[in-house]
Amino acid sequence: MALLALLVLAATGCATDGGTPGGARSGRPDAQADAAGGGQDRTGADGAPSSAADRSAGAPRAAPDPRLGRAAPPAAPAAEPALPPAFNTVPTPVADTLVRGTASSGRTVALTFDDGPSSEWTPQVLALLDRYDAKATFCVVGEQAREHPDLLRTIVAKGHQLCDHSETHDERIARLPQAKLRSQITMARDAILKAVPGVRIPWFRSPGGSWTAAVRGTAASFGMKPLDWSVDSRDWERGGADRILATVKRELRPGGVVLMHDAGGDREQTVAALTKLLPWLVAQGYRFDFPA
Ligand SMILES: [Zn+2]
Repeated sequence: MALLALLVLAATGCATDGGTPGGARSGRPDAQADAAGGGQDRTGADGAPSSAADRSAGAPRAAPDPRLGRAAPPAAPAAEPALPPAFNTVPTPVADTLVRGTASSGRTVALTFDDGPSSEWTPQVLALLDRYDAKATFCVVGEQAREHPDLLRTIVAKGHQLCDHSETHDERIARLPQAKLRSQITMARDAILKAVPGVRIPWFRSPGGSWTAAVRGTAASFGMKPLDWSVDSRDWERGGADRILATVKRELRPGGVVLMHDAGGDREQTVAALTKLLPWLVAQGYRFDFPA
């Protein structure tokens, strides 16, 4: 039922696409957080293994039995069931223009949390969102998704949405050859779908906000709109919770998409800022929405 409601919600959101972008984008990309210290170094891992090959290897098919002239009994169940057809495995290409606004017009805000899930910070963010009945979008890294499939299921069960944030968070993604660019996107997608079969992944967010026509176009070809932001909370700078809060308060306009992080380093300040930001948003009359 929750998934059904999610699909209806998402469909409604698409139909009322009229979000107004919020304030001007701050220049520096999110993923410098990782370089700022304490973050996990994902750039060294060059993930090229094919998850598709893994899946097909694990799913033997029944071969005809020549002696009987009919199909042999089915083989023993595969260790991993094949993925059911899902939104992004039979992708419908979408527009490749950068999304920087919410799905609905009005006094809306889309909170986005990048680089997770993490066992330490994601549950704290989820608990805070629950307290204010706020829905958010989690831009997850494939490696993290594979490590914490339970957290992905919790995120979706609570009514939040998922965004593909690449397999290894390689900020050189814009310079990768096409095949590697595709696998950065599809491997993370497959990790998400393995954790939450059939879930919609409406967006892709490039690591570090590295956008080129190729990155945007490839994501769009897999049915994922390229998701940018209008407000960079700069939580990756770790300049203190008050500074994060002040930045969002100053830059947010109705229809804005706010960039924050629930992983990729110590996110204590993000959690502290969110503790104050959520009641402020409610008091300001903001409705929590998803990106366009
Ligand atoms: Zn990131």
